[in-house]
Amino acid sequence: MTDGNGNTDGIFEDAIRRLDLAARYSKIDPEALERLKVPRAVLEVGIPVRMDDGSEKVFIGYRVRYNDTRGPAKGGIRFHPSVSVSEMKALAMWMTLKTAVVDIPFGGGKGGVIVDPKALSRLELERLSRGYMRAIAHVVGPDTDIPAPDVYTNAMIMGWMYDEYSRISRTREPAVITGKPIPLGGSLGREDATGRGVYYVIKEIERQREWKPSEITVAVQGFGNAGQHAVNLLFQDGYKIVAVSDSKGGIYRSEGFHIPSLMEVKNESRKLEAVYCHESVIELVDAERITNEELLELDVDILIPAAFENQITVENAGRIRARVIVEAANGPITTDADEILNNSGRETVVVPDILANAGGVTVSYFEWVQNRSGYYWTEQMVHERLHEIMTREYLAIYDRAAESGLDLRTAAYGQALDRVGDAIEATGTRQFFAGEES
Ligand code: GLU
Repeated sequence: MTDGNGNTDGIFEDAIRRLDLAARYSKIDPEALERLKVPRAVLEVGIPVRMDDGSEKVFIGYRVRYNDTRGPAKGGIRFHPSVSVSEMKALAMWMTLKTAVVDIPFGGGKGGVIVDPKALSRLELERLSRGYMRAIAHVVGPDTDIPAPDVYTNAMIMGWMYDEYSRISRTREPAVITGKPIPLGGSLGREDATGRGVYYVIKEIERQREWKPSEITVAVQGFGNAGQHAVNLLFQDGYKIVAVSDSKGGIYRSEGFHIPSLMEVKNESRKLEAVYCHESVIELVDAERITNEELLELDVDILIPAAFENQITVENAGRIRARVIVEAANGPITTDADEILNNSGRETVVVPDILANAGGVTVSYFEWVQNRSGYYWTEQMVHERLHEIMTREYLAIYDRAAESGLDLRTAAYGQALDRVGDAIEATGTRQFFAGEES
């Protein structure tokens, strides 16, 4: 498990344990389930990069193709110092389940490089991105495995990788990678898609619980792409965003923050500050400094973990007070912590990652469709179709959970495993080949 220092060894074992527990509530064939416990392929690469001072540094990267039964593998690329093969396998397995939850015709994959991107110059970052694509180009492609952005990668990095792939393949195949800049074939609405998906799920909960947004408090851990857009949309609807954090720590203010101002400063200066911006004047507002750990334990209506894996563990799960947790990050709650939250008697509802943050990969699918057809959609079309999918699948999982008395995560896993299982079973299982009665 995690040691709290970003060590991600052991995360895959935990992911398999959760898979086994949830599989009891799916009709998946045992043979199909076994297949889902092992990735199809794991590639480890060394990426030599010429640094600005003239020296050469070799970075280690991975690409995992976890499963491609329902379609080409799909999943992001992460640049982070704590990237490990165990983490890549876990994230790639979750992508397999995520694409099945939203029923898009993809499997799951993931990639990453062990690097602190903040320590690189722009030129070094470009060389690393191109070098990574050169190292994995033979295993990716529009019909095999399609990368996208993830933690600390963005549209520009996807653009460099796409350009590098084009040079290698001597073709222009924009569908090889998603989350590209718009002029290079990116989709409108991809940039905020993960946060918007989180928002659509919360809007459905708002409708079910008859919430009045101005009375609902929200804390977000992580102020990157997913976190920023999710709370900004909630803010526009009148929700009170009382706590925000980044990797260095958080800020709390009971009256709530003006999110567009926080975004402006964060995206300009990389600093998270309690500010209110009007025209070109930036004013500091009163706020309390809190740690990331304290943020998670705040007494709020909605907690949005939007940073990393393993944030809510056996250590702090008993102290979580949020009524609803919506996982914008992948894997922020460990399997044991889930158990504590589910049995705390507090009725904490957790909307699991494989559903809550599926907006990103859903619009990646839209981008892939647009690239292949050569016909581009309006932003409104993207929003409408994303809204339809997120709402439909949230409600399906909500009903499945309610009917069987399950938590939403187990219901989502059940739904995903049914779908992946159906695809694997369509190729034949023991029942078919050995002619057994079903
Ligand atoms: N990295 C995102 C995720 O974890 C998006 C992946 C994609 O668009 O392929 O879901």
